[in-house]
Amino acid sequence: GRQPVVPVRICVSIRESTTEEALASAARASCWGDLLEIRADYIRDLDLRQLLRDKPGPVLFTLRASHEGGDYSGSERSRLETILEAAQCGADLVDVEFSAFWKPVVEVVAKSRVVLSHHNYEETPEDLRPLIDSMAETGAGILKIVTHARCLADNLSIARALGYASEQHVNLCAAAMGREGIPSRILGAHWGSWMIFASVPGGRSTAEGQVPADDLVECFRIRQISAATQLYGVLGKPLGHSLSPRIHNAAFAARGMDAVFLPLEASSVDDFLQFDEAFPIRGASVTIPFKEEICARAHSLSVAANNTRAVNTLVRRAGGWHGENTDVDGFLQPLLRRIHLGKMRAVVLGAGGAARAVVYGLRSYGATVCVLARDVSKARILADEFQTQHGSWEQLPAAQWDLLVNATPIGMYPHIEETPVRAEWLTGEWVCDLVYNPGETRLLREAAQRGCRTISGIDMFLAQAKKQQQLWCGSAPPEQVMEDALKSALRPQTSLAV
Ligand code: NAP
Repeated sequence: GRQPVVPVRICVSIRESTTEEALASAARASCWGDLLEIRADYIRDLDLRQLLRDKPGPVLFTLRASHEGGDYSGSERSRLETILEAAQCGADLVDVEFSAFWKPVVEVVAKSRVVLSHHNYEETPEDLRPLIDSMAETGAGILKIVTHARCLADNLSIARALGYASEQHVNLCAAAMGREGIPSRILGAHWGSWMIFASVPGGRSTAEGQVPADDLVECFRIRQISAATQLYGVLGKPLGHSLSPRIHNAAFAARGMDAVFLPLEASSVDDFLQFDEAFPIRGASVTIPFKEEICARAHSLSVAANNTRAVNTLVRRAGGWHGENTDVDGFLQPLLRRIHLGKMRAVVLGAGGAARAVVYGLRSYGATVCVLARDVSKARILADEFQTQHGSWEQLPAAQWDLLVNATPIGMYPHIEETPVRAEWLTGEWVCDLVYNPGETRLLREAAQRGCRTISGIDMFLAQAKKQQQLWCGSAPPEQVMEDALKSALRPQTSLAV
């Protein structure tokens, strides 16, 4: 049966430079959050009375000093006066730093309205209990501890801190900043965090790794997460460009599964395994730079993973991790629907992980392959591995091909004006680009203009993601939902936060 869902309090943090803008932003954010944090330290023309009279919902008033990572640089005396005035004018909660004048605030303002905060921009200490104890002694009703995550395992310190606070009946909000700390912002409510800080949908975040409130609710479904929620995720570093959370969370939601797909930016494979030990992951996508290293950690490998010595998908099995490589099938499927590969002369650009899956896939269907890379020694190593030809980048203009595959990141957002191949060299029949953001790269646009037939990286990306869904869930994926999720994530082209 479904475990009880923990009520989640979402606090949308508002960072604007005028009172008017802060109110407008608060109005837009109010449907996503239970609370609105007004970061008054960023407001240049602060009109407290107007702000608190016109607020669209409960407000946490924060005037963060620059030495605590905020933007307030006035005197401490006037900061105290402003905070006390905010409490008097109707701020529902006021923030005061543990390193500042918390005493007069706790004495004057009802304790239940005081959020006592502590920030550590350097690291996440393993044991936060002594800090919690001394912060709790102040009598403040709500404690807030924000640290900096250097690795995925730092989330475990946050989870332990939240567990300890619950035992002590202390209201604690805790999270780790940085991309490695994102799991603490998604799972935090379930770990016992009194509230979860989020950024304004489409707006500026107030801390690194902060997730927009609409994504927390709609993509990660944090209002539904419970102890029984199955964890999945994408392992890599950096994960700034990954669209996997969008697609897989949409698929889990469509299947009605109690599962969440997390961005798992790890400092190493060991770091990931440490997180997995505490919070078992049922399945994972693996991306740069861990695809090769994770092979040795898998209990079993599929034929494709074994032959490419690269794993892009982990599936939890009774004996341990099973490693798969769905990039191979993901690349082949859109091609096989259109082309008979046996007679093809293919040129593959690049000699990295994706090129390896491509060359293996093409060779297994009998295509003739030539690998061209800017580092010819890497091209040679890859070509030798699959008994095929190689050459240097300079040979491209003279190369004869039926199928050209770009397996380099050239042309990927934000460098969308770049292309690996001059338009006049596009003399073959088929051009396939592995880059999927944007869906139509300059290479594909120019290839189509020159009369080539084109295959977008989107087709491959979707095909490999659908295969992952099949492997994790054992049943056909909700294809249309996944396609729609990818399309809406790619429009407008943005560097996605997760
Ligand atoms: P990778 O292992 O880092 O390999 C990248 C390859 O591109 C290397 O050979 C690299 O050469 C070469 N390269 C990079 N910049 C270059 C430049 N300016 N000029 C010439 N060569 C350059 O990355 P990967 O995992 O193979 O991924 C490659 C691309 O495929 C990425 O854009 C990725 O997003 C995409 N991809 C798409 C899918 C999909 O489903 N559509 C799946 C996997 C990958 P050096 O070794 O000399 O640096």
